[in-house]
Amino acid sequence: MWRVAGQEQAVRHLRVSFQQGRLSHAYMLVGPPQVGKGALALDLARLLNCLAVEDGTPCDACNQCRRIAAGNHADVRVIGLGQGVEGGPQRREIGIGAVRLVSSQAHLKPYEGANRVFIFEDAELLSEEAANALLKTLEEPPPQTTLILVTSQEDRLLPTIRSRCRRVELRLLSRDETVGYLEEARQVEREEAERLAHLCGGRIGWALSALDSPQLMERRISELDRLISLLDAGVEQRFHAAGDLAALYYRERKEAVEALEVWLTWWRDLMLTREGAGEWVYNQEYRQSLEERGGGYSSRQITDHINAILDTLRGLERNVNPRVSLEALTLSLPKAAGPRQG
Ligand SMILES: [Zn+2]
Repeated sequence: MWRVAGQEQAVRHLRVSFQQGRLSHAYMLVGPPQVGKGALALDLARLLNCLAVEDGTPCDACNQCRRIAAGNHADVRVIGLGQGVEGGPQRREIGIGAVRLVSSQAHLKPYEGANRVFIFEDAELLSEEAANALLKTLEEPPPQTTLILVTSQEDRLLPTIRSRCRRVELRLLSRDETVGYLEEARQVEREEAERLAHLCGGRIGWALSALDSPQLMERRISELDRLISLLDAGVEQRFHAAGDLAALYYRERKEAVEALEVWLTWWRDLMLTREGAGEWVYNQEYRQSLEERGGGYSSRQITDHINAILDTLRGLERNVNPRVSLEALTLSLPKAAGPRQG
């Protein structure tokens, strides 16, 4: 079986390629965060090593499949944050060391399986030097080796890298797919599955983490509450909040970025609410407050602020001063202009 949730098109592509003996030696799995790119990469690794492939599908039961799924197969390596990533919170990248290791191992015969598979998570974090080194391996692919680059920001990869990989796109899951998966694969009760499907907006990975870690839900709620209180707040409170966020950024960069992403969902929800599409909002618990506030902002104010958040996120990636950019962002939070605007 394929463990990835949904993604029929991507799965069909890999199945057919396998059956026709036309799998590529290099793949780039692209798509929004948390839609299953990592899961599909491991599915492909199982397909390449499974001892009992049937109908272009790994069996999920042989010792190869089981060891890959459990993360302890000697020929399947995942390179991502935490492995081979150099630098502190200000400078995160996959460095040349990790790629050199891959290049040297790629030429060895597999130890225990039929194929060596190297999976680069967040491949957009490859440093330029590392990407250029990887290019050499992509240009002269060793036999029995497959490279899988996983990214949600493919435009940040070198064009020369992109052109040497076969691109497979993953999409946001539909609400029905999410509910179905949670019910079948995780035995989640219908009502809870529907609630998570509402909240995750097609990102099954988010729903699964929320299921496994209720803190994620709590963080989301507290971020939304912070945002809403700031809308009515004065300059001093906004400065204070920017300081808190900057401190969080230095302590736990990922959490601070997630906080801004949560803010983004709220503004997007506000836009949907204004357009009468309340049932599509991410943050269903906030539907009433979105209805109440929706009329106070113009579409222009909302899109401008969505762009301001996106600019801030891009700035943080480029290592601008977090405190200064977060202050600019919180100070630019638009105030509701009163009755419904055009
Ligand atoms: Zn198998």
